[in-house]
Amino acid sequence: MTVNLLDLDLEGLTVFCERLGEKRFRAVQLFRWIHQKGARQFDDMTDLAKSLREKLKTCAKVEPLAAVSQHISSDGTIKWLFDVGGGNAIETVFIPEEDRGTLCISSQAGCAVGCRFCSTGHQGFSRNLTTGEIVAQLWFAEHFLRQRLQRDERVISNVVMMGMGEPLQNYGELVPALRVMLDDHGYGLSRRRVTVSTSGIVPMIDRLAQDCPVALAVSLHAPNDALRDTLVPLNLKYPLAQLVAACHRYLAFAPRDFITFEYCMLEGVNDTDACARQLVERIKAHPGAWCKFNLIPFNPFPASGLLRSKPERVQAFASILNDAGITTTIRKTRGDDIDAACGQLAGDVKDRTRVMLRMERNRTLRPHSLQDLTKTVTGVSA
Ligand code: SAH
Ligand code: SF4
Repeated sequence: MTVNLLDLDLEGLTVFCERLGEKRFRAVQLFRWIHQKGARQFDDMTDLAKSLREKLKTCAKVEPLAAVSQHISSDGTIKWLFDVGGGNAIETVFIPEEDRGTLCISSQAGCAVGCRFCSTGHQGFSRNLTTGEIVAQLWFAEHFLRQRLQRDERVISNVVMMGMGEPLQNYGELVPALRVMLDDHGYGLSRRRVTVSTSGIVPMIDRLAQDCPVALAVSLHAPNDALRDTLVPLNLKYPLAQLVAACHRYLAFAPRDFITFEYCMLEGVNDTDACARQLVERIKAHPGAWCKFNLIPFNPFPASGLLRSKPERVQAFASILNDAGITTTIRKTRGDDIDAACGQLAGDVKDRTRVMLRMERNRTLRPHSLQDLTKTVTGVSA
């Protein structure tokens, strides 16, 4: 069987190399070639013995994802669509900012949670991504950007698991992928610059705390169970009191961190002053500055039947939280013009995907000159 080395964290690669009769330092060399230099061909890995390279060719490969399309937004955001086979596609989004480059990664094709305001959720669940498919999104984006920008140093400084899917419902494949991101021989991202966003799978929050306590974002969206039940069906299983308790247990493993609560602003649904005050009460029931709020203007899609809150409403809501001492920011919508904003990542599973994949393949990729790309991602630093 041929092993895709993108599926392995350093520990896994060490075991793999040991089975080939190779020492750990060979695994480190191989890992660095793949993730730090973006090498795919074993013959390019010049400091590995020729005999090892030949051996690797018989039992291993570095298999990236097939990029079907690339769209660049006027604000510099780049969205890639990757074909993951079986008529499924996933999306990955790069968001350049002054002081950082953030990659938004998918963890599943579709999602089983079915939140009312999320276009991925409306499509249903197709399948979990493998560790290799999660890592391949970073591998591709990082080395693509480095090449296009002619940079030797890191371009992507932050990863957020906020693409398609519920990462904690794909826990077994997620954790090794996180380890590749954090490993100094891999992408060397610091623990606080890798964020897992979850709709609130309580037992898995506890496991993540033990296994890999990266930054945690929790999609809250409502101040009480009655409303949250209607927006995030998972709330019926793990209601708010349990979720908030899990957040506190998490922080015990990640001292000096905070939880980021995401709150999608839906006009007339969860955006009233009364909702904001109820949130304050809930948060203030626990002492200390243990969380921050990120208000996300809802990105509408036709089937949702929901509307985006007016900017003044979002401001007023933020003011109530901020005045109560809860740090609250309003997320800037990025990549609107290329459907790359939160919740617009459809990736179109099932029938619609097949049609879309066919259309994307037939479309000539718009050429983006290096100059264009450099212009759009100017200011991104490692
Ligand atoms: N499944 C995980 C991560 C992916 S969703 C989660 O739910 O946290 C990433 C973020 O986008 C979540 O906070 C989610 O609530 C938000 N989101 C989903 N649909 C949205 C939409 N249509 N408009 C704005 N934000 C949305
Ligand atoms: Fe799934 Fe997150 Fe969308 Fe809910 S918001 S359906 S958990 S991807």
